[in-house]
Amino acid sequence: MGFSKFGLSHSVLEGVKAMGYVEPTPIQLRSIPLLMSGTDMIGSAQTGTGKTAAFALPILSQLGAHDRTGPRFLVMEPTRELAAQVETAIRDFARFTNLKVAVVYGGVGYGKQTDALKIGADIIVATPGRLLDHIQQGTCKLDKIKFLVLDEADRMLDMGFLPDVRRIVERCPRERLTSLFSATIPPEIESLIKWTMRSPETVEIGLRRSPAETVKHVIYPVSEDQKSDLLRALLDHVNYDSVIVFCRTKNRADRIGHMLKKNNHAVAILHSNRTQREREQALKGFRDGKYEVLVATDIAARGLDVANVSHVINFDVPQHPEDYVHRIGRTGRAENSGDAFTLMVAEDATHVHAIERFIGKKIEHVKLETFEYKYTALFEDAKPGAVPMHEKRVRGVRLSGGYYFGPSKRKKR
Ligand code: AMP
Repeated sequence: MGFSKFGLSHSVLEGVKAMGYVEPTPIQLRSIPLLMSGTDMIGSAQTGTGKTAAFALPILSQLGAHDRTGPRFLVMEPTRELAAQVETAIRDFARFTNLKVAVVYGGVGYGKQTDALKIGADIIVATPGRLLDHIQQGTCKLDKIKFLVLDEADRMLDMGFLPDVRRIVERCPRERLTSLFSATIPPEIESLIKWTMRSPETVEIGLRRSPAETVKHVIYPVSEDQKSDLLRALLDHVNYDSVIVFCRTKNRADRIGHMLKKNNHAVAILHSNRTQREREQALKGFRDGKYEVLVATDIAARGLDVANVSHVINFDVPQHPEDYVHRIGRTGRAENSGDAFTLMVAEDATHVHAIERFIGKKIEHVKLETFEYKYTALFEDAKPGAVPMHEKRVRGVRLSGGYYFGPSKRKKR
């Protein structure tokens, strides 16, 4: 049966076939019928579950063919990278239609975007600030929008975009189909939902907080001054295809990126101080396999679809538990398995506990056997209660020096 049961248009079905999708993912199974029947929906699903197709396929099917009425389908995204990614996915799904797509985001010139809008785009994928600029300049009108998608709404909130989003929604006709996707629903998003949607249905796939189940994640305790050495040792020992290394700050990302380059790794660096061109080149090179390591700040953590990331290494423990889920969501996407390693220093204990509470489970503590550890208080704390761990391998890494620092066995203070 696959995708044929949903009543999608013939050309969209051809697009899906060309993408090689055979069976719908759970969020697609639930969302496509709702959107085909014209019901507003709130989608909450783990990252990498196929949510782009979940909203794009039914909406593209209802758009039909290109016409000159003006944009009828608007997708709002929090970052340029996400906007570019969703635009590419929509172009792929719509490749057997004659629908026209424009992507609109800041950090680049206006010319190409204005041209795409002038030609008469049916679909706009946009970040809020630049879209408002185009509206003010009269190069874009939203009075014919019939389908509105607010993607990564919690991220929009984090980035302070909600007032802009509201201004944009005010420009759209009230008579429309609205869907909103968000990993969490804080009160601000709740009120956005009340304001923008009519009797929405909620589609929640799996636990909102849990990371993809195909990811094996472990913690490597280490002292601060050995972090870089341990990272290098891990990269030497792990059989990875591609790895994203997350750092807390832009400076640290630059420093670690340059250090790994010196060690002959093919490295790209992604953070918000880099120019739009540099960011695009970094992502493209990483996707194409030119770079094996992407060193990034959290800007890259949410929603970005980089296929086949085999490993995520948190060089720094994320300060917000939800960022942990987003970061390790880069691996294990769409049922591929992946591994996530987090380097932890003594001061990170509170953040690690917060993450464990958030995801509802303890993360295993392991040591890299071949690495020469200096003393760290974390080991001291764990050793008396440690039990031997059976030889275990995660893609070629020997995980343990013989000790399992499982929380239940830990020495009570
Ligand atoms: P998304 O959550 O939309 O970013 O999608 C995550 C990844 O899953 C993308 O690489 C999609 O191309 C892929 N994907 C989405 N739906 C399916 C499907 N039904 N079958 C196989 N792959 C899919």
